[in-house]
This record gives sequence, structure tokens and C-alpha cells, in this order.
Amino acid sequence: RQVIAFHDVTKIYPLDSGDVTALNHVDVEVVRGEFIAIMGPSGSGKSTLLNMMGCLDIPTSGDVFISGQNIKTMNDDQLTELRRDVLGFIFQQFNLILLLDALENVQYPLILKTGETGCTKRCMEVLEAVGLAPHLWHHRPGQLSGGQQQRVAIARALVNDPEILLCDEPTGNLDTKTGMAIMDLLTQLCREQGKTIVMVTHDPRIAEYADRTILIEDGKIKEEIS
Ligand code: ADP
Ligand code: ADP
Repeated sequence: RQVIAFHDVTKIYPLDSGDVTALNHVDVEVVRGEFIAIMGPSGSGKSTLLNMMGCLDIPTSGDVFISGQNIKTMNDDQLTELRRDVLGFIFQQFNLILLLDALENVQYPLILKTGETGCTKRCMEVLEAVGLAPHLWHHRPGQLSGGQQQRVAIARALVNDPEILLCDEPTGNLDTKTGMAIMDLLTQLCREQGKTIVMVTHDPRIAEYADRTILIEDGKIKEEIS
């Protein structure tokens, strides 16, 4: 089953200095449980592609289907709901809330969704699943290593049990060994929990973890490597 589909998608940013075509008639299909890497030079359209999968950007023309729904037909509330329930986001800079401890960071999206704070059990469950040792659960991001912070961020992305994980350079801020451990975790989430993962990376060794690499250049898909 397809969880992400782009049909003839073009994205044009109108600028004073002239229009920029960030995506140029792009077709992409991702099936459930697939692990995809997106690679390409700087300015080739990787972020635009990922942002559109994350419903942060709307195509200028063409259709984007996320979990079977055409995002063009949805209003802002529906898009917010889709982002919250179907998508999990993982970033290069972790983007954790510095004043909250690990457990509270994971709790945060659940509170946004339900308005309740009493969901500690679920948060402990996902922190365990990402391999963060319990003695670190009350540490703030500043007291954690980069790899530990990324585990917290992955737990936060998982807490609402999303179908799709979108990762923007998830190992970009980590040393090689820690990055590989994080990639092992993402692979495990894909293989064992059936998560669909789309990851932007510039590192070919990191892309090797994926089932398929989409190579993008000048807003066009240049090649797909399985
Ligand atoms: P990448 O992630 O591969 O570096 P991007 O998707 O960020 O590429 O950018 C693709 C092209 O679109 C670039 O020329 C970039 O400058 C342009 N672009 C991206 N986002 C915007 C935006 N919000 N406004 C104007 N131009 C943009
Ligand atoms: P990265 O490649 O590290 O993901 P980018 O440089 O591609 O970072 O883009 C960072 C953010 O800035 C993205 O949200 C992108 O849409 C936006 N952006 C990129 N180029 C432009 C631009 N020319 N004008 C406005 N926003 C841009």
C-alpha cells in the first residue's frame, strides 16, 4: 500500500529576482514499511520534497497524497491533524525543548493532542524502545550527549505512533559511531514496527541503510538506486 505519492509535482517559489523551480514535475511513490533516502546537491530540492511530505509546503501544481489523502483538498486544521497523527519529524539539530527533561519532551506532543499530562506510561514505553537508559529520563537536553538527545527526539516523534517518519539529516550532528547507532535504531523501527521512513542525507554511507535512494538534481529525480 502506498503511504506517500507525488504525481507530477512542481513547486515554484516566486522571487523578486525571478521564479525558482524547486521541484520540476516530480513523481515519487513510497509504500508502507519502505526506508527511503533522498540525496542530491545543495539547492537541488531535497528540503522542499521533505517539507511537502510533511505537509508544510503545498505544490504549485500536481498532487501529493499522504496516507491516501490529497493534501490539496485539506484545510489547515485537517493538515495539522494529519501532521500530528500520521507523521513524525526528526531533525539534525534535535529541536528539543531545553527547559524540559527527556520524559517531558516526549510527553509534549501527547499533551498537545489530548490536553492531558497523565500519559507517562506511554512516554516511558517509547523511551525504552529507543534505548535511552532510565537514569537519563529526568535529564534535560543540555545534560545529554548528541546521540542521547537524538534518541529522545525519536521517542518524541514516535509517541503518537505515526505511520511515517520524516528525517532531515538525522545523523548530521553526530560522530560516525553514534550516527551508525542512530541508523540502526531507525532501521529497527522500520523492520520491526513497520514504520515508513524518508530521510534526507548528504552522506552516502548513511544512505546505504535505506532500501532505496532517490537522487534529485535541479528539482528533478535523476536516478533511483535500490
Ligand atoms: P536542498 O534542500 O536540496 O538544499 P531546497 O529544497 O532547500 O534544496 O531548495 C531548492 C531550491 O528552492 C533552491 O534554489 C532554494 O534556494 C529554493 N527555495 C527553497 N525554499 C525556498 C523558499 N521558501 N523561498 C524561496 N526559495 C526557496
Ligand atoms: P538544509 O539543506 O540544511 O535543509 P536549506 O538551506 O535547504 O537547509 O533550507 C532551510 C530552510 O530555508 C528550508 O525550510 C527552506 O525551505 C528555506 N529556504 C531555502 N532556500 C531559501 C530561499 N532562497 N529563500 C527562502 N527560504 C529558503
